[in-house]
Amino acid sequence: MTTQTEPEVDTQEILKILDSRKKEISVTLKSCAHCSLCADSCFLYRCRKNDPEYMPSHKVINSIGTLSRKKGKVTRDELEDIKEIVWKRCVLCTRCYCPLGIDIPSMIALARKICRSQGVVYQYDEEKREPQK
Ligand code: SF4
Ligand code: SF4
Repeated sequence: MTTQTEPEVDTQEILKILDSRKKEISVTLKSCAHCSLCADSCFLYRCRKNDPEYMPSHKVINSIGTLSRKKGKVTRDELEDIKEIVWKRCVLCTRCYCPLGIDIPSMIALARKICRSQGVVYQYDEEKREPQK
């Protein structure tokens, strides 16, 4: 019986992508005041009855924030968690508003790019309907 092993995470490739947007990532993470003002402009947050995991800032901090904090040294499981955030909890509609000018969709798109670079992508045919809370 053959066992399929997952490919190693290419940390260098992740770092290369992070470095290409280093300044923007740093400004985003340092300037977020955690004021939650962006939350109301996200229809997914509102549809999910204000579930904090759908807050735009939460999505950024737990995707690109995690990748940056860990300097790209993430496991495949962590990338899978990030995948759930950046595909399932955001549709890149660009409607979120931050009074400090933080470009949330751009950061989420960057996290998607990093996931894609490691072959971690959302398989829509695997999606299961979740019961509404
Ligand atoms: S992204 Fe902007 S609006 Fe959202 S919590 Fe951070 S500072 Fe506040
Ligand atoms: S871009 Fe994502 S976080 Fe922003 S409002 Fe749309 S779904 Fe919400």
